[in-house]
Amino acid sequence: MNAVVASAVPTVSSILAGRALADAPGGRLTSVNPARLEEPVAEVLLGDAATMCDACRAARDAQPAWAAIPAPVRGRAIQQIGRLVEENKEALARLVTREIGKPYPESLGEVQEIIDTCNFFLGEGRRLYGQTVPSEMPDKQLFTFRVPVGVAAIITAGNFPVAVPSWYLVPALLCGNAVVWKPAEYAPATAAALAQLFLHGGLPEGVFNLVLADGPQTFAGLERALDAGLVDKVGFTGSSQVGSEIGALCGRHVQSPCLELGGKNPLVVMPDADLDLAVEGALFSGFGTAGQRCTSLGTAIVHESIHDEFLARFAAATEAAVVGDPMRDVLYGPMIHQRFLDRFLEWLELIQPHHAVHGSTGTGRITAENPRAGFVGDPDAGIFCHPTIVSGVTAQDDLYKLETFGPIVGVAKFADFDEALALANGHGYGLSSSIYTTNPKHAFRFRAGVSAGMVSVNNSTSGAEAHLPFGGNGKSGNGSRQSGIWVLDQFTRWQSMNWDYAGKLQKAQMDVADVPAELGFRLEG
Ligand code: NAD
Repeated sequence: MNAVVASAVPTVSSILAGRALADAPGGRLTSVNPARLEEPVAEVLLGDAATMCDACRAARDAQPAWAAIPAPVRGRAIQQIGRLVEENKEALARLVTREIGKPYPESLGEVQEIIDTCNFFLGEGRRLYGQTVPSEMPDKQLFTFRVPVGVAAIITAGNFPVAVPSWYLVPALLCGNAVVWKPAEYAPATAAALAQLFLHGGLPEGVFNLVLADGPQTFAGLERALDAGLVDKVGFTGSSQVGSEIGALCGRHVQSPCLELGGKNPLVVMPDADLDLAVEGALFSGFGTAGQRCTSLGTAIVHESIHDEFLARFAAATEAAVVGDPMRDVLYGPMIHQRFLDRFLEWLELIQPHHAVHGSTGTGRITAENPRAGFVGDPDAGIFCHPTIVSGVTAQDDLYKLETFGPIVGVAKFADFDEALALANGHGYGLSSSIYTTNPKHAFRFRAGVSAGMVSVNNSTSGAEAHLPFGGNGKSGNGSRQSGIWVLDQFTRWQSMNWDYAGKLQKAQMDVADVPAELGFRLEG
């Protein structure tokens, strides 16, 4: 972590061209542990629009030299970053848990995802293949090359404060780009720690820059940097609302950003499903990370013949689940930040008289006065919420239509497959989806019909692997994909080259040899 002043609580700030900034033009804040609000995690010096723009300029200055380093050598830097993350795995995971309240085993998994991403891309430095392509003329050869985009500005949410950023940062750097990373302002200590691991991995100054700033200052700084021609690619992971603003801004600069946005992820339970498996999947999808994943379960869509049985088992499993201190053995811990608690309490108001509520001993914030049976720890010390299952959800309900980021899951009924599919798609999001069935026909028909970018069969809606394409459609994103080989198309551009060694001008389409044929020929009979 980047200590600017000596204090028991570290101070973190933006880092431009290897230099930690000591001023706070965007103001100061204290990051606190959401499971123990009295416990500060870091003092934060925020940058402003100028900081964002300056960081993009630092990246612009550093990028050509980085791109000139052979890709296998850049892969070596990625390898070293991965090793550093591995050596610091527990420390980084503890910080994730302290700052955003994710249960410790999940935080370890999140850090592992960075290591997996580095392991995948370090080898890509030795591939990054282009092609040799036959020409339509003799003595001429065609080639394709992957060219780095230039400067990538990466803006991320804080619910996956290290894994999701690494999905952008690692391939962007490997491909020869310089980056400016603007993490969520509610996970600044975690971001500063990850930045240190990247900076110690061997990246030259200015190739990796960190900006700590709020949303409006980030937007203003990005606009300035785009106007000044300092940014070539924007990667944004966050809400659909901000994503559409970023998309419009980039569109005005004739750029196509990566947009990874919100989700309202369906989980369809067919009458032939293994119900216990479906309940287990719904519990983890709906309430893991207190429902604060982009891939969290939005609505369980259950066949009418098994609806009551599924609901009873799901409610019982949710009632029995342990909520509380994220360093203990719990299904989920606190809300990530006060802002998510406030929004969650508003979303609870979407529950209508035609709905029924299940799953806990109360709704809303868990306190001594509004207790949760089996809670582990002191609920009043942090910001914890009851899990809430809402049955009787229909396609007309706001609860069905809106992403509700928190521990709330709707349950809707369907009569036939087409109705299930219509409910799975009707909200307009398209990130993740799941179907529980023992019939391959249902699984493949669902895959073909669902609008989501990701489909699980007999598995949770969440749980991406680091080498499979990740991304959404509709309100969930503009079709860009992260992870694996697919993200390379975001951080490189194809350049084509033709080389004519005929010693004369050969004109494409015009000077092409003919192949005489008898096209009037027909078989007899
Ligand atoms: P958010 O959109 O409020 O903020 C995300 C990031 O954008 C933060 O760094 C924030 O500071 C910044 N930001 C906010 N306003 C901005 C603006 N006008 N211009 C530029 N930057 C701005 O999202 P959040 O509430 O922090 O995160 C939760 C949301 O993120 C949910 O909708 C969730 O589904 C989504 N999410 C999506 C994915 C995915 O991969 N699809 C992953 C994680 C989270």
